[in-house]
Amino acid sequence: MKTIEEQGYTFQEWLLPEQIAKDVAQVADKISADYAGKEPLFVVVLNGAFVFAADLIRALKGVRCEVTFIRVSSYFGMSTTGQLQFIVPLQQVVENRDVVILEDIVDTGLTIHQLKAHMRGLGASSVRVATMLFKPGKLEYEDAKPDYVGHELTDEFVIGYGLDFDGFVRNLPSVYKVKK
Ligand code: 5GP
Repeated sequence: MKTIEEQGYTFQEWLLPEQIAKDVAQVADKISADYAGKEPLFVVVLNGAFVFAADLIRALKGVRCEVTFIRVSSYFGMSTTGQLQFIVPLQQVVENRDVVILEDIVDTGLTIHQLKAHMRGLGASSVRVATMLFKPGKLEYEDAKPDYVGHELTDEFVIGYGLDFDGFVRNLPSVYKVKK
């Protein structure tokens, strides 16, 4: 397993492209079975999810679908309630659609918690979540538990396969974990 240096930190290769391909394939198979005969709308959460989304949608079998993008950032004001800021707002009508949100990683679940509420508020018929990575031990919003997960991890910081470190390293084909 390779290690790389990034901004003074050492990262250890964790999920290799072969493993990622298997993880994506099992998620794609489940989604293909669940959405057979439906026409889901995939909402890709930028920036991190674009790599996972590109692989996932091409691994689906027989699912007629649409793909759109959204970019959000969560911030906290004076209260403890997180608010979602839409940097790239949704361009597509989600009313009466079966929405599948595609995320790179679910950590506390705040982003997904708010995005699901947003989609429901816009009249989506159903909202599910597929994520490449999930940190179950860190989940703070029960409704943000993803429906489809590529791979679970504990609370380590990871990079690569779409996930950045200060904007860089999204193009690494493997997922790397920070070395303590
Ligand atoms: P949440 O709203 O679930 O707390 O956080 C989700 C977002 O936090 C992800 O979309 C991602 O941008 C960021 N994030 C959480 N954990 C990690 C991590 O281990 N590595 C990277 N690069 N980003 C993370």
